[in-house]
Amino acid sequence: MIVQPEKRENQRAALPKQGVSPADLWQIADDEQRGDVKWRDGRVAALVYLIDDDILEVAKEAYGRFSSENGLSPKAFPSLYRFETEIICMAAGLFHGDEAVGSVTSGGTESIVLAVKIARDRARAERPDITSPEILLPFTAHPAFAKAAHYLGVESKRTPLNEEYRVDLDAYEASITENTIMMVGSAPNYPMGMVDPIPEMAALAEARSIHFHVDACVGGFFLPFAEKMGKEFPVWDFRVPGVTTISADLHKYGYTAKGASTIISRDPAIFEYQKFEFGDWPAGVYSTPNITGTRPGGPIAAAWAVMNYLGEDGYIKQAERIYGFMPKLIEGINEIPGLEVRGVPDMSIVTYGSDTFDIYAVADGLEERGWFVHRDRQPKGIHLMLSPGHDKFIDGYLRDLSDVTNLVTRGEITAGSKEARYG
Ligand SMILES: *Cc1c(COP(=O)(O)O)cnc(C)c1O
Repeated sequence: MIVQPEKRENQRAALPKQGVSPADLWQIADDEQRGDVKWRDGRVAALVYLIDDDILEVAKEAYGRFSSENGLSPKAFPSLYRFETEIICMAAGLFHGDEAVGSVTSGGTESIVLAVKIARDRARAERPDITSPEILLPFTAHPAFAKAAHYLGVESKRTPLNEEYRVDLDAYEASITENTIMMVGSAPNYPMGMVDPIPEMAALAEARSIHFHVDACVGGFFLPFAEKMGKEFPVWDFRVPGVTTISADLHKYGYTAKGASTIISRDPAIFEYQKFEFGDWPAGVYSTPNITGTRPGGPIAAAWAVMNYLGEDGYIKQAERIYGFMPKLIEGINEIPGLEVRGVPDMSIVTYGSDTFDIYAVADGLEERGWFVHRDRQPKGIHLMLSPGHDKFIDGYLRDLSDVTNLVTRGEITAGSKEARYG
C-alpha cells in the first residue's frame, strides 16, 4: 500500500524523506487519473481536444524529446529557434500576413496580454496625450482581455450583441472614445462560435488609427481550413486592412500539446512593441518578446511536429469530421422539446438553452450520467466545443440529453445550486 502524503488525514503534503520509486509514482498517478473527467470516452466537449492517437503520440514524442531544452536562448537551442520561426511562418501564411512576425507563447492568455501590451505601448509612442487608455470589446470577448487590462493598467469596456449573438456594430462604434487604444473582435467568439463582422469593425478602428486585434485563439487553426472547404463567414485575418495583431492557439484546434499559442503582428514595426529589454543588472542584456523567461521546449517542439505531421490535408480532414456530425447534433438538440441551439455558429462550438425550463436542471442531469458540462451564464446555456473524436459519442449524448430533458419536463430533476464557473 502506498501512502499518498497529500491524502493523510489533516496533514499538508510534505516532501518525502526518501524518494518514491517511479513504479509507485505511476500507480498514484493512475489512481488519481481515474478520478479525472473521461475525455477519451467523449465525456467532455471542452478543455481537451479529442483526436486520434497517432496525433497525440507525435505531440508526446516531440514534447518528451525537448522537455529539458530552453527556448529562452536561440543561441543555445537553434533547434527550438527554427521550430518557432517555422511555426510563425506557417501561421502567418494561413492568416495571409506576408510580412507578419510574432512569437509562440504559453497560451491564449499570454498572447492576449501581449496584444494589449503592444497596443498600450504603441499608443504611448504614437498618441502620448492619452492618459486613461481604454480597450473596446464585444460582450462575447474572452476574459483574458479583462485580465490583461487589469495587469497593464488600462480600462476595458464591453458592448452589447445583436439578436444573432454577434456584436451590435452601432453600439460598438458609439463606445469609441478619444481614449480608445485598442478595439477587439473574435474569430470566432468562445461562448457562441460566431465570427464577429471583422471587416466592418476593423474599418472603424482604421479610420481612427486605433489598434485592432483579432482574437482567433479558438478559430485560428480551424477557420483557414473551413474556408478551404467552402464554408462562409466574415474574412477575419490580415486580408482585412485594419487588422494589426492576431492571437491564435496551437493547443486548441492546432491539436498539439498544452502550452502553445501564437501572437502575430502585421509587420515587424508593430512586433517591436511586443519586446522587452533590460540591461541594468550584472548579467547580460535580457531581451525577450514573451512574458515568460525560461521557455519550455516541449510545447514548441510538439506544435512544430504536429503541424508538419498533419499538414493542410490533415487539418482539413479533422474539420470535415466535425462538420460531418455537427448538423446531426444541432438537429438532434433542436428536436428535443424545449431545447434550442443559440444562433448559427460559424464553427465547431454549439450552445443551447431553453425558454421553457431551467437549463441548469438539464446540466445537473447530464452530470449525473457522467457528462462533464460547461454552463453559460448570459443567456443561461450549455456549451459544447467539439473535437473530431466526438463523432463516436453524439448518439449517446443525444440519447441521454433526451432522457434527461424528459425528466426535467416532468419535474423529476430540478436545478441544483451550481453556478457557471471556469477555474
Ligand atoms: C481559449 C481562448 C482564449 C484563452 O486561451 P488560453 O489558452 O485558455 O489562455 C482566449 N480567447 C478565446 C476566443 C479562446 O477560445
